[in-house]
Amino acid sequence: METKYIFVTGGVVSSLGKGIISASLACLLKARGYRVTIQKFDPYINIDPGTLNPYEHGECYVTVDGHEADLDLGHYERFTNVQTTRANNVTTGRIYQSVIDKERRGDYLGKTVQIIPHVTDEIKRNVKLLGKTGNFDYIITEIGGTVGDIESLPYLESVRQLRWELGQNSLCIHLTYVPYLKAAKELKTKPTQHSVKQLQEVGIQPDILVLRTEQDIPVNMRKKIAQFCNVAPDAVVQSLDCPSIYEVPIMMHAQHLDEIVLRKTGVVPQGEPHMAPWLHFLDKMHGATEQVNIALVGKYVELQDAYKSINESLFHAATYNDRRLNLKSIHSEKITPENVGEYLDGMDGVIVAPGFGQRGVEGKLTALKWCRENDVPTFGICLGMQCMVIEFARDVLGLADANSTEMDPSTTNNVIDLMEEQKSVSNMGGTMRLGAYDCRLTPDSTAAKAYGALEIKERHRHRFEFNNDYRDRFEQAGMKCVGENPATHLVEVVEIPEKRWWVGTQYHPEYSSTVLNPHPLFIDFIKAAVAYRGERLMEDFAESKK
Ligand code: GLN
Repeated sequence: METKYIFVTGGVVSSLGKGIISASLACLLKARGYRVTIQKFDPYINIDPGTLNPYEHGECYVTVDGHEADLDLGHYERFTNVQTTRANNVTTGRIYQSVIDKERRGDYLGKTVQIIPHVTDEIKRNVKLLGKTGNFDYIITEIGGTVGDIESLPYLESVRQLRWELGQNSLCIHLTYVPYLKAAKELKTKPTQHSVKQLQEVGIQPDILVLRTEQDIPVNMRKKIAQFCNVAPDAVVQSLDCPSIYEVPIMMHAQHLDEIVLRKTGVVPQGEPHMAPWLHFLDKMHGATEQVNIALVGKYVELQDAYKSINESLFHAATYNDRRLNLKSIHSEKITPENVGEYLDGMDGVIVAPGFGQRGVEGKLTALKWCRENDVPTFGICLGMQCMVIEFARDVLGLADANSTEMDPSTTNNVIDLMEEQKSVSNMGGTMRLGAYDCRLTPDSTAAKAYGALEIKERHRHRFEFNNDYRDRFEQAGMKCVGENPATHLVEVVEIPEKRWWVGTQYHPEYSSTVLNPHPLFIDFIKAAVAYRGERLMEDFAESKK
């Protein structure tokens, strides 16, 4: 089968969930046996989101091949169970960098370099890159931003050209918003009409409309939209607000989105998508009544998307443990030795978030000390793991000034230090230890038991590392280094075996938890949290009988 290209654009407002719609469609096509991947084109000038702070675009996701990517790639992986790579996320910065490099090499043979055709050709080349591998039947391309933005024009022009070149092997899905005006008690279709018109002005006729809405859109209104926008009535699909993003594939299938896409790309739909494992997950999600209380300690907790992959991984793990996740986000800057108990008492498990820089670190250390002394199941990720090491060094090893050289370059006890190869790095972009690295686990450690394996591979994004000069002292005092890189001996996992569940990972397990393949460490962490909750309930019960 020839590779088919599906373009997903968005109109009216941003944050409509193009990523979720793209991921849901991919999920359905994959469940029908097609080989699918999703890629995102972001119109900003940064080369990648690695240099952006979370206030800009939320979490920075990392692919196995070490690309710092838009967080939508996390949704793509979670919904499809297919790993993405550098080729799945391209920005205007990267397009221009490549065009300018070609110009400097003289590749354009004396021509004036222009947006059309040189920039659009470079966009088109990147759109087709994954298709050229022959590994995919469907390539879904999400165009970031909103139709009408100046910066997305070269992308829309490229889509227009590609639609011509690819014919029936391509189609365009446009996602818009149908607002409900409370005062008028009415749904309004005008913004959708305008947004489609804007798309038509740049020469693109959408084949399918997905209408994001908070209220059910009546059939006659959908017909009206179809008529105004030159779209077949059955190709106007609504995306009603729903309690969980994981319901969206089912909601899309109920309106035949997958079949419409197949038919419009010249493929006869056969049978039904194999969604049984997905439905099993949803059944568990709906069936979970008892809750598990997890605290997430971080400095960006007020941002919904800053710890997206951690939130989703916890949700997957809670669901598979038949628990409803009750996630309490705690701002690490607000935690003090005086109030830490108020924040954390009653929590079944605590997770300490990744991060950069000094802000909020003392609060993380205070939280960790409280958790260690009260033996609460605790999970530290990246900076969270580094904080576990620092806290233990200060409080148990008695090294009062122990620190990471990231926070205090002149500390005499640099238990976390810059890697040798990082010392000469001056550019910030794309220069951390990034992507998947091998890790060997110690038999019988909590991590090894959770993974059910001794050789694992996990994704990294950091510059600083556990300082091996201190390893023996930590191990003698009870904090074990139970995971290391076999080639460099860098410490990847620490544990305190005598605690209920005390694990810190230098890597980011949250990037690889998917609905159909939840991450074993998160599963085990939640299991420990559930057990700890059970223990406390039993104690309370025994107390009440006295
Ligand atoms: N700031 C730390 C480092 O660079 C941790 C990074 C992280 O948590 N992702 O090593």
